Amino acid sequence: MNGKTALVTGASRGIGRAVAIRLAAEGARVAINFAGNLEKAREVQSIIEGNGGQAMLVQCNVADFNAVEQMIKTVVGEWQSIDVLVNNAGITRDNLLLRMKPEDFDAVIDTNLKGVFNCTKLASKLMIKQRSGRIINMSSVVALNGNGGQANYAAAKAGIIGFTKSVARELAPRGITVNAIAPGFIDTDMTSAMTDDARQATIERIPLGRVGSPEDIANAVAFLASEQASYITGQIIAIDGGLSM
Ligand code: NAP
Repeated sequence: MNGKTALVTGASRGIGRAVAIRLAAEGARVAINFAGNLEKAREVQSIIEGNGGQAMLVQCNVADFNAVEQMIKTVVGEWQSIDVLVNNAGITRDNLLLRMKPEDFDAVIDTNLKGVFNCTKLASKLMIKQRSGRIINMSSVVALNGNGGQANYAAAKAGIIGFTKSVARELAPRGITVNAIAPGFIDTDMTSAMTDDARQATIERIPLGRVGSPEDIANAVAFLASEQASYITGQIIAIDGGLSM
């Protein structure tokens, strides 16, 4: 990926962090987006730079269209192109439907789904001009199977699947591929609040018998961003130790 530019949203922690570090190791210059955790974002930047790579920090709320527009301008102003967009930023506001506040529904849809729209719309404009590009969206196994307590999150993640397939069709004639990854249970801050019992019960449902690591997801992102994946578009790839089969 030498000479390519990647923008990874939500790259200060968890899956996004692993993706940013991996794409940089493959030779890409990586723009590290984050919401507010500057210290963690700087850590990712210094790991990449310490390995001889190039990285820049671009703080912005992906749910804010104008802020995303400014972020894309900053990346392009510095590096002239965006070749790979990884829409990874995401939040949870879990609760049973009867207890779920409308603002918690909105917050999850705004960040997890509208954020994907904002970044894809603005980055694809550039990719269309370049007549090439890779867009990789982070969905979830809960989009495929549902999950009690996560109606807002599952709706957003299922929305990403429809969005991915539609945009893949629109952008295919322009040489741009659009795919989604549906991670299962991955060890990050997002899943750390689980009790030990709940965690053990989940592991028992995973055929491969372990939780996934952020690197398990980064491996697939690196592949989808590579030349080797040039004939793959509109696909949803579950990386979940067999959980969703
Ligand atoms: P995480 O550890 O909680 O990290 C979330 C990242 O998203 C952070 O970098 C955070 O930035 C950023 N972020 C949150 N809201 C944002 C916003 N409005 N604008 C920009 N950045 C924002 O989460 P994760 O577990 O790595 O999850 C990454 C993605 O994978 C999410 O889309 C998640 O839904 C999906 N996923 C995760 C799992 C899992 O088991 N972990 C399973 C399926 C899907 P700050 O550090 O600045 O807050």
